[in-house]
Amino acid sequence: MAQNRRGCGCAVVVAILFLAIIFALWYFIFRSREAPLPPPSGNELQVHVLDVGQGDSILIISPEGKAVLVDAGDTGRGRAVVEALRRHNVAEIDLLIATHAHADHIGAADEVIRAVSVRRVLDSGVRPPTRDDSAANQNNANGRNANGRARATRGGGREVTLPTTRAYEDYLTAVRERVANADENYINAEPGQRFDLGGGAVITVLAPMEPYFTRDQLRSGGNEPNANSVVVRLEYGRFSMLLTGDAEAHACWTGNYPTQITREAETQWSREHEPVPTD
Ligand SMILES: [Zn+2]
Repeated sequence: MAQNRRGCGCAVVVAILFLAIIFALWYFIFRSREAPLPPPSGNELQVHVLDVGQGDSILIISPEGKAVLVDAGDTGRGRAVVEALRRHNVAEIDLLIATHAHADHIGAADEVIRAVSVRRVLDSGVRPPTRDDSAANQNNANGRNANGRARATRGGGREVTLPTTRAYEDYLTAVRERVANADENYINAEPGQRFDLGGGAVITVLAPMEPYFTRDQLRSGGNEPNANSVVVRLEYGRFSMLLTGDAEAHACWTGNYPTQITREAETQWSREHEPVPTD
């Protein structure tokens, strides 16, 4: 009888293990499969790289006419961006993506937000460093909060206003003052978020992911705002484009990025920039 009971117990354990393996396989297969893209409408998807001198500003117009602006150029360049928007008949920006808090990417964001209706804003919530590196690192490692998101420097660090910090504060103020229902429409970037632009065009957020890069993790002059840039993939049918802000090649190889983005980044960087580091 004792032997029979042991045999029965083993069968139950095997059955539980079997079910657990089936569940794990189902879970990983199901979870790893991204939802399929909507079919392309056949209308034109436009990507305009705006001439803002130093820095970036990229305008995407979806096949259904929705406009996405990725960065807004340096402080004082807002007029060039706004004129470009008017040239392309953009009356409203559906989504403004501020890739990272450096002045040459978000310096003119406040000017644009005040000149053109902006429905939603997406950023990483990682604030720029101050001169006080230790305090800044502490901020950047944890630098997100739900509402104000720009935390004061902690640890008694001396806060010094740099041009980038000023640009970031001006950007935050403009978002709070001009973006309707900012509690909902000012969005923290998280991997996997999808923005359907209509007509089959989709933007998917790939980075940053927590824990954010800190200065200590970055070698050879890397910096945290760059490494923690919002990275998105724009897709339309068989076309896809990776928009990386200032995410750096070596940041891509320190383990924070998912395999998928690493592969895409390798292709893009090896084509456009310096050779991808192998260490
Ligand atoms: Zn940068």
